[in-house]
Amino acid sequence: MQFQDVAGQPQIKQLLVRSAKQGRIPHAQLFLGKHGYGTLPMALAYIQYLLCEQPGEQDSCGTCAACKKVAKLSHPDLHFAFPFAAKDDKDVAQNHLEEFREFLLKTPYGSVESWQEFCSGESKRPTINSATTKAILTEMSQMPYEGKLQFMLLWYPEMITHGMANRLLKSIEEPPPSTVFILVSEEEGKLMPTLLSRLQSIAFPKVKDFDLADYLGNQMGLDLDQARELVNMADGDVDHALGLGNTQEQLALFFPFFRDWMRGAYMAAFHESVELAEVFQKWGRTQQISFFQYGLYLIREALVFRTSNSLSRITEMERTWLEKFSGSVNTAVAESIMQALENGLQGIAGNAHQKTEFIGVTIDIYRSFKLSKH
Ligand SMILES: [Zn+2]
Repeated sequence: MQFQDVAGQPQIKQLLVRSAKQGRIPHAQLFLGKHGYGTLPMALAYIQYLLCEQPGEQDSCGTCAACKKVAKLSHPDLHFAFPFAAKDDKDVAQNHLEEFREFLLKTPYGSVESWQEFCSGESKRPTINSATTKAILTEMSQMPYEGKLQFMLLWYPEMITHGMANRLLKSIEEPPPSTVFILVSEEEGKLMPTLLSRLQSIAFPKVKDFDLADYLGNQMGLDLDQARELVNMADGDVDHALGLGNTQEQLALFFPFFRDWMRGAYMAAFHESVELAEVFQKWGRTQQISFFQYGLYLIREALVFRTSNSLSRITEMERTWLEKFSGSVNTAVAESIMQALENGLQGIAGNAHQKTEFIGVTIDIYRSFKLSKH
């Protein structure tokens, strides 16, 4: 992965290149932000730049032996730790590396949920278990194999099992020579404050619409109209944009499902809602999350419609529904529904039982509608 393969974020690229050229490479860094903003691809591009045998002014060369190894995620000085569903106490992330590589090469912007799904939908909550943390710290106490530096890329350090974060902290406080830890995290709040205070942290903003359109068009080969349409819905999140793009069919499925769901909740037709919950249950977690995101997007558009009366981003089918919908609910109701969808999204991302979660959200939406009837 080169910097040029990473969507947008020009300031962060500049910052990383500049510090690399000046030889100021913090030994413990935090890349913080939503996975779809590109924290992981950026970490890979940065590592490739630092390991490259002939780095240029702006980017790694992409052709030297080191670059090729990093691109295949097989450089001996690049180590990974990531959450996985351990078979037993002795199972380590290293045992799942082949699968993880395959996942990363295919979906560098992917989330831990899509990784879980990739591992044939393991229902056990993945963690970075004790055995893995011990193994990586031992590995890091060795000298680098090839280069001057070795890297430990920790994906979702917030999922390190309880107690082991202290071990990691110790290692970061007294770093082994030539070692750079890069922690790629979504939730700062879940990291220990003592650990946080030791990390050089870079917060990733949303990818700018212009950069996202450029990425979808030039890197992913979408046509301009489609790229624009996705950019409008993706809110600066590459993973979300790709998820929507890969599944135009899925979107065609979402609208009627969402419409029927809202109608059922409005009419208090709970038998229908239960039928929908059964369909929902069969989708993968990623699709369920996309569905809630889609719902949030539609309701947000309804709010825009209430205030400006213009809708630019939506299909005809959606427009007809939204006009009716925004005529029948007030802002408070729309916001209350959005809160319910947001809770559902968090629940699914947090591994809640899908059907139960869906029914819970349905009841919340029903209650929201009741507000509008009084
Ligand atoms: Zn190179």
